[in-house]
Amino acid sequence: MPEGDVSEVGDQTSVPADVRSEHCYDVIVVGGGIAGLSAAYRLRTHDTLVLEASERPGGRVFSHSSDTGIQNFGAHMFGGPGTVVGDLCLELGLSLRPIDAGLMGFTFQDQLMLDAKPALLPFLIPLPPLARISLLKAGARLRIGAARAGSCLARTAQNGWDQMTEARFANGDDKTLSRYLGVLHPAAAKIMQAITERCGGDPTQISAGHGLRSFANVWSSSSPGFNLCGGSSKFPEALAAALGNRLRLGSRVNDVSREGDGVVVTGQDGHGQPFRYRAKTAILATPAPITKRIASDLPEPTRNALGEVRYGPFLSVSVNTTEDTPGLLEETYAVSTPQAAFSVLFNQATNRFSLGGHELGGSLMMFAGADRAAQLLSLSDDQIIENFMDDLKRLIPSLSGITNPTVCRWENGAPFAFPGRSSLQPELTRPIDRVALAGDYLEFPNMEAAINSAHEAARRVSAWL
Ligand SMILES: Cc1cc2nc3c(=O)[nH]c(=O)nc-3n(C[C@H](O)[C@H](O)[C@H](O)COP(=O)(O)OP(=O)(O)OC[C@H]3O[C@@H](n4cnc5c(N)ncnc54)[C@H](O)[C@@H]3O)c2cc1C
Repeated sequence: MPEGDVSEVGDQTSVPADVRSEHCYDVIVVGGGIAGLSAAYRLRTHDTLVLEASERPGGRVFSHSSDTGIQNFGAHMFGGPGTVVGDLCLELGLSLRPIDAGLMGFTFQDQLMLDAKPALLPFLIPLPPLARISLLKAGARLRIGAARAGSCLARTAQNGWDQMTEARFANGDDKTLSRYLGVLHPAAAKIMQAITERCGGDPTQISAGHGLRSFANVWSSSSPGFNLCGGSSKFPEALAAALGNRLRLGSRVNDVSREGDGVVVTGQDGHGQPFRYRAKTAILATPAPITKRIASDLPEPTRNALGEVRYGPFLSVSVNTTEDTPGLLEETYAVSTPQAAFSVLFNQATNRFSLGGHELGGSLMMFAGADRAAQLLSLSDDQIIENFMDDLKRLIPSLSGITNPTVCRWENGAPFAFPGRSSLQPELTRPIDRVALAGDYLEFPNMEAAINSAHEAARRVSAWL
């Protein structure tokens, strides 16, 4: 089973006086996910050290390559040129491939709809009349709300980072998405739930603003975006290569404290050996609950706000396929599957036979989020694979040569905004002496947000240095 989240462990370190502690770095970055790596990359002309707990860089950006093809387990839709993600990939010499396909297919009552325009789906899904009316009403409310969310984003993008992120959370923060949508027919509610799972929470948990922002992203003209040639992990791997020995893998931080005019970072390396490093400043690029645990001397209101951030679980199962002619999914990127064990099927090898870059096998990622993922997390990998494979073969019987089914569990899959979430933002973004926070939980969670927060943290650190 590939490693997803780094689970929390208690403080097991008794720190001896360590010779390495004599050196004082300019900045220590804790966490080698995409936020930590891009912060360190920005600060690479300084004396920088990145400490990452796991044995690979990238955190929730994670793919694996083998001689049967690429398998993706985490982030896969990249922004193109003009976004911070796209521009950084290009700066690193990576190749982006447009996802040249209809964004969304749909299955319901075992009917596979791949060619319909998303706006027409509510008319085509086999539903009883009351369920169809309910779905159409919900769709209209989403369209109106998402358009409003989109224009709010455009307006606030002109402001500074703090005001911008605050405004993004404040929009639609007074109620849940399910209250915003009103009472739905059970069949319409099931469809809605499957579509919103990738927010990490169900419509009864996420704020209306968070749900609408997610739809605004999906319906934006730049969606679905780009895939990274060679697999998503090429991105953190390229950042790691640029950082060289500034990045230490297998280094789990247990405590970050401000001491004298600097910061002391302690933890354990991959051999169980304690370490203790000193720096002038630190960037904490770990998920909110871990940041709260390791940074015990942050101001109490900031620690409290970190503890209030809510995450939902994700679970992905990836497979390769061995077809040698274009199959049913050749021109489809995502198929919503509300009645399967998973909620979306992502084709990671779209247009494999018509575009370059898929010289190896086909690649599918089955995804579950929120409550559906929470229930699956209690099953063994074999049980999950059996459930997912049964549904995959039932939905697309023509798929041939399915190999390498692999489960990846993300207990902290995505932070989601809930009603009242905006009240945390001032404490989460407030400047703290010598320590800056970074991570996708500071914004609408995706790679773009993680890197934006990292650039802001790097800006603060540069000002202190
Ligand atoms: C299944 C899935 C699909 C997604 N799809 C997309 C998508 O298509 N597009 C998109 O833009 N985003 C997507 N995302 C979201 C995206 O992956 C995240 O928003 C982003 O990668 C978060 O980066 P981060 O650096 O903030 O956090 P993380 O990636 O969680 O990085 C935190 C790092 O801290 C490390 N760490 C934890 N504890 C310690 C410790 N004690 N000491 C040292 N290190 C520690 C972790 O190992 C990890 O590497 C997806 C996420 C998932 C899980």
